[in-house]
Amino acid sequence: MMDDPFERWRLTPVINVTGTKTGIGASRVAAETRALVDQIMSSFVDMDELQTRAGAVIARITGAEAGCITACSAAAMTQTVAACLTGADLARIEMLPQTDKERRVLLPMSHMVNYGAPVDQAIRLAGAHVVPVGTAATCEEWHLRAALERGAAAAMYVVSHHTVRENELPMDLFIACCQEYEVPAIVDMASEYDLTGPLAMGASAVIYSGHKCLGGVTSGIVAGQTDLVRATYLQHRGIGRTMKAGKESIVGAIAALELWETRDHQAVQVAEEKRVALWSRSLSDIPGMTLARHADWTGNPITRLCMTVDPVVAGLNAWELTARLAARSPQIIVRDDLIEHQEIYLDPCNLTDDEAEHVVVAIREEVARFRADGDGLQLSWSDIKHAREAQILAWRGNWDDS
Ligand SMILES: *Cc1c(COP(=O)(O)O)cnc(C)c1O
Repeated sequence: MMDDPFERWRLTPVINVTGTKTGIGASRVAAETRALVDQIMSSFVDMDELQTRAGAVIARITGAEAGCITACSAAAMTQTVAACLTGADLARIEMLPQTDKERRVLLPMSHMVNYGAPVDQAIRLAGAHVVPVGTAATCEEWHLRAALERGAAAAMYVVSHHTVRENELPMDLFIACCQEYEVPAIVDMASEYDLTGPLAMGASAVIYSGHKCLGGVTSGIVAGQTDLVRATYLQHRGIGRTMKAGKESIVGAIAALELWETRDHQAVQVAEEKRVALWSRSLSDIPGMTLARHADWTGNPITRLCMTVDPVVAGLNAWELTARLAARSPQIIVRDDLIEHQEIYLDPCNLTDDEAEHVVVAIREEVARFRADGDGLQLSWSDIKHAREAQILAWRGNWDDS
């Protein structure tokens, strides 16, 4: 029996130059975390008790009063909202998504983004009614106050590179306004390094993914006020059952949090910087590519390499190059959030030094192939947009090995 899943099930290896994306398996989970998960998998454990241990670690690290683990951040968003609709009322918990109480949940319209699924859907799943605040690229204090004035069960604030930050209401101001109206402010920070900031500002609950920068097993972390966290945890007797966190998620998240506390963050950054420096050095002479170091959009301590393609000089569009890189084996998946602007970002967080060197070789090979074959500049951005839907729908629940 082959014990390598890639050989056993003929999977395509992936080199991750995109960062932390759940679509390619989120994180490399550390050996220490895997060992603890392995131990718990062959045992029984009182889940209520295990969750209190998680709560203690979350409280210690974030400064929150309490904490619990959910299946993922999206589940945490649904369950914290549910908690604001039901409190610790077991009958109301079983009644969701129906509710006889206030169901308005405020969300800046500029935060109504898609992290793989829409933010507003995670809120609606609880039975809440989403009230967008402001416009696509503006949220002012008076917009939020007018919405709070009319009453709300909760207000959500999202920190993500996907949000529109033009004229955004700063988090401290958002939280302060919510406090004035005694409306709980929930902050979704799924992908952020800052584990203490929003709670120090007075957020009622903050949500992190265990499997993003924390590098744990698929899980969501809720840190916040005791009453709200308890009501969030109690949702496992209701709608939370459809998004259950198993013992592996809970142990995997606690272990990742503890590792985060002792991790040499400086050394990790130095290693990442080495990879960015390698790329800057080895890709600088490609005609039609301008390289620049780029600091993370939301202030995480990550520097990426941005390659801007001049299509006329390079003879290719950025999206054509990334498609070729993704079609190789191993697949090379780069960061493509702004690809329609001809920008490709190389993220140094989730690959080895050898893989970083392989990325250089692959990019040079593919650029040379376009040059030799003269087959760049064939697909417009609209072509790609169109093809993406077909690609999503092409998934069939079977694999033909012939
Ligand atoms: C990734 C992400 C989510 C979803 O996280 P999961 O744990 O994968 O469910 C939600 N919000 C933001 C801002 C994210 O970046």
